[in-house]
Amino acid sequence: MSEKRLTRKRVVVTGGAGFLGSHLCERLLNEGHDVLCVDNLFTGRKDNVLHLMDHPLFELMRHDITFPLYLEADEIYNLACPASPIHYQFDPVQTTKTSVHGAINVLGLAKRVGARVLQASTSEVYGDPQVHPQTESYWGHVNPVGPRACYDEGKRCAETLFFDYRREYSMPIKILRIFNTYGPRMHPQDGRVVSNFIVQALHHEPITIYGDGSQTRSFCYVDDLVEAMIRLMDTPDEVTGPVNAGNPVETPILALAEKIIAAVGSKSEIRMHPLPADDPRKRRPDISLAKELLDWEPEVDLDTGLERTIEYFRELLA
Ligand code: NAD
Ligand code: UDP
Ligand code: UDP
Repeated sequence: MSEKRLTRKRVVVTGGAGFLGSHLCERLLNEGHDVLCVDNLFTGRKDNVLHLMDHPLFELMRHDITFPLYLEADEIYNLACPASPIHYQFDPVQTTKTSVHGAINVLGLAKRVGARVLQASTSEVYGDPQVHPQTESYWGHVNPVGPRACYDEGKRCAETLFFDYRREYSMPIKILRIFNTYGPRMHPQDGRVVSNFIVQALHHEPITIYGDGSQTRSFCYVDDLVEAMIRLMDTPDEVTGPVNAGNPVETPILALAEKIIAAVGSKSEIRMHPLPADDPRKRRPDISLAKELLDWEPEVDLDTGLERTIEYFRELLA
């Protein structure tokens, strides 16, 4: 038997047909694992995993994780949840249910089959942060009744559930707090800033800056993020996180727009729009813990990552 078959794991990826999930499924298949992608295709698309459909170790299951699911697994990556503000605010109650009921079901499943389970948490647990850069020990600054709360508080409650299952049942849990990540297979109408700006620039349409563009984000390329997820899953049982994963290079949104216009060679002009409620002013991960525990840091710089992402959208929209 080949080495790969001997070490083959049955891995479940919820949200596997989404942007990050599809890259994770691909990576896990390349490593020789048996991958079950569980997705209700709300923001994910079959197109994202079409190239994996003929792979003998890949399976797509259309299922909403707010309902129980009974299957066998060695590892579960829980990524199911809309991630872009326009999508998570479309049906906010369903967003909270996906994070909270979804976490309960995934944890119940992991408990029954003895699987390791990783939660795709988010920098949004820090809200509009008053500590900068954000370390894992910061408890955050979230408006619990604002329009972003369905996402932020849902993700915070999911973290609580993960830790309570660990305290109650000694389960091997892992929590990764993901900061803004971008790359090929973002949905062109996803509404997030990188995909919006690239699509607008390619069409030579005005670039929509919300506010004055002085707010910052730190953008991580998808391959780097997938690497962090896999490394965290592979840590010993006593490592639970939460661990931040993101690129610590902070970029103002206006500077991002200018970078994208230049990289595309676009004639787009910049147009300012009102800033949405509760939009965080700044965000940058402190990744010391990821460096220490996972020996991880991002390798792809923003210019290189944007180039690859622009190439993807150029082909998609051609
Ligand atoms: P995405 O919207 O592309 O993927 C989410 C996937 O979950 C989609 O395929 C969607 O159809 C699926 N889904 C949603 N609700 C579901 C449900 N109830 N049952 C089953 N499937 C469901 O977003 P993404 O960027 O790939 O994000 C993946 C995960 O990573 C999310 O949990 C998100 O919160 C987290 N995250 C992403 C980022 C980022 O910058 N991309 C940052 C922080 C956290
Ligand atoms: N669950 C699931 N798959 C399983 C085991 C459990 O979806 O293989 C769901 C189950 O429906 C339950 C939830 O996970 O609602 C939590 O399970 P747990 O065993 O922790 O709690 P209980 O069943 O005692 O409520
Ligand atoms: N943003 C913007 N124009 C857009 C989309 C987003 O100026 O077309 C801004 C948004 O207000 C926020 C930042 O870019 O300040 C990042 O937005 P995104 O939705 O990508 O991520 P999040 O706010 O969840 O970090």
